[in-house]
Amino acid sequence: MDEVLKQLPLKAKEKHAENRKCFVKLKKKPPKNLDYIMQELHEEEFQRTDCLSCANCCKTTGPLFTNADVERISKHFKLKPQQFIESYLRLDEDNDYVLQRVPCTFLGSDNYCSIYDVRPKACHEFPHTDRKKFHQISHLTLKNVAICPAAFNIVEAMKKKLPN
Ligand code: SF4
Ligand code: SF4
Repeated sequence: MDEVLKQLPLKAKEKHAENRKCFVKLKKKPPKNLDYIMQELHEEEFQRTDCLSCANCCKTTGPLFTNADVERISKHFKLKPQQFIESYLRLDEDNDYVLQRVPCTFLGSDNYCSIYDVRPKACHEFPHTDRKKFHQISHLTLKNVAICPAAFNIVEAMKKKLPN
């Protein structure tokens, strides 16, 4: 996995123009069964991918924390939401709460998430390749293929599956 992760940013860069072109086309005319195709490709890929041997999302980027995330996780730590925010979060340029630092504080050396059951919604949904109306988050996916080897493979498989 180390070698895959090392090569991923370059591979994503090489595919960037092609991926952008594909998403422009997809946005103009998404196939009726796109949600179904993505669900299938996502499930197939994650049957092969072992996130515990990767954790690159937790190591290199962090989730956004919604108010509901903050409430739930601070309760888990028996902290007041404000105490939790002050200890772990900061506001980013879009005024969203994000981690103060990466790798994520809650990631163990064994790649397990120490707050797995209460983790942020964004962690639960990453890399968002099975979400409905997938073509609407192309800006995010173009970035995620450089971070997540599974997202990279899913987009490659999607391009093969979609009509030209
Ligand atoms: S979601 Fe992607 S980046 Fe995160 S651990 Fe799994 S394969 Fe790695
Ligand atoms: S909260 Fe857990 S799943 Fe989310 S980034 Fe941190 S370690 Fe990863």
